[in-house]
Amino acid sequence: MSDASEAGGGARPTIDGRADDAATDAASAPDAGETERASPVEHAARGVPTGSPLRVENLVKRFGGLTAVDGASFDVEAGSLTGLIGPNGAGKSTTFDCITGVYRPDGGAVYLYDEEITGLRPYAIADRGLVRTFQIARELAEMTVLENMMLAPQDQRGERLWRSVLPGSRRAVREQERELRDRVWETLEFFEIDHLAEEYAGTLSGGQRKLLELARALLTDPDVLLLDEPLAGVNPVLEEKLLDRIHDLRREGYTFLLVEHDMDVIMNNCERVIVMHQGRVLADDAPAAIVEDERVIDAYLGANV
Ligand code: ADP
Ligand code: MG
Repeated sequence: MSDASEAGGGARPTIDGRADDAATDAASAPDAGETERASPVEHAARGVPTGSPLRVENLVKRFGGLTAVDGASFDVEAGSLTGLIGPNGAGKSTTFDCITGVYRPDGGAVYLYDEEITGLRPYAIADRGLVRTFQIARELAEMTVLENMMLAPQDQRGERLWRSVLPGSRRAVREQERELRDRVWETLEFFEIDHLAEEYAGTLSGGQRKLLELARALLTDPDVLLLDEPLAGVNPVLEEKLLDRIHDLRREGYTFLLVEHDMDVIMNNCERVIVMHQGRVLADDAPAAIVEDERVIDAYLGANV
């Protein structure tokens, strides 16, 4: 991985043997300041927002007579990998959906870097820097990995990415496309799926697909990523790779909230664990304390340990 301190320097890292970097970089030197982007792992160097990345207060979501989320409150520390666990039906996915704007909560509030985002549309929330990974939809399975990546920012309305390049002139459009293409290749290489660029997404293994999903989410230039069971159906080799990449990104200042059923993964990778039960937060502590918590053992871990 390249040193984060490089991002602030003059020359962007370029991809060897790819495209026309040398020639066009020289030609567009005056624009370099505006078009320069940090590569996905150089997040910290471009400045991570301050404050609590994500705070949820008394969140409530009902489906008819059923209260799926019943006054959940928690916050997530900057640059952390925080686990969200709990039995099936505890309200984890619904909480994610309320945070990311898929559902409008019936009560409570969600704050992103101390700014309220409750009830905003998903694209507006993504635009402010919070995304969740999405499963590759059927129509995207019929496109190549590269096409999936090129479409990702438009898809999730990555306006932060588009805003970083100049609108208007034809040259600016070309510059913008080149910028996106560079970033796409850097991201594919970071996840070590660049050799799959021309493969149809539908032919990828479960683990490769998860890497692509995370790669796509990163292209929208987020600060906070919500991952709902990112390791489901992933073989052990790719599981380790995915976790390694998540740790790399975390060290760069990205913040992760992770729903995962595999307790070993949670205990070995998260510095903090939030336990949900019946729509509420039952416990919120370090992994070592969680496994000893009587309430957690009764409600969730009892059968597992
Ligand atoms: P978890 O992700 O922790 O397994 P969910 O958030 O998916 O839990 O579900 C919480 C509760 O809300 C469950 O009882 C589930 O059946 C219910 N639920 C989730 N989504 C819907 C929906 N769209 N309509 C009705 N009930 C739902
Ligand atoms: Mg769920």
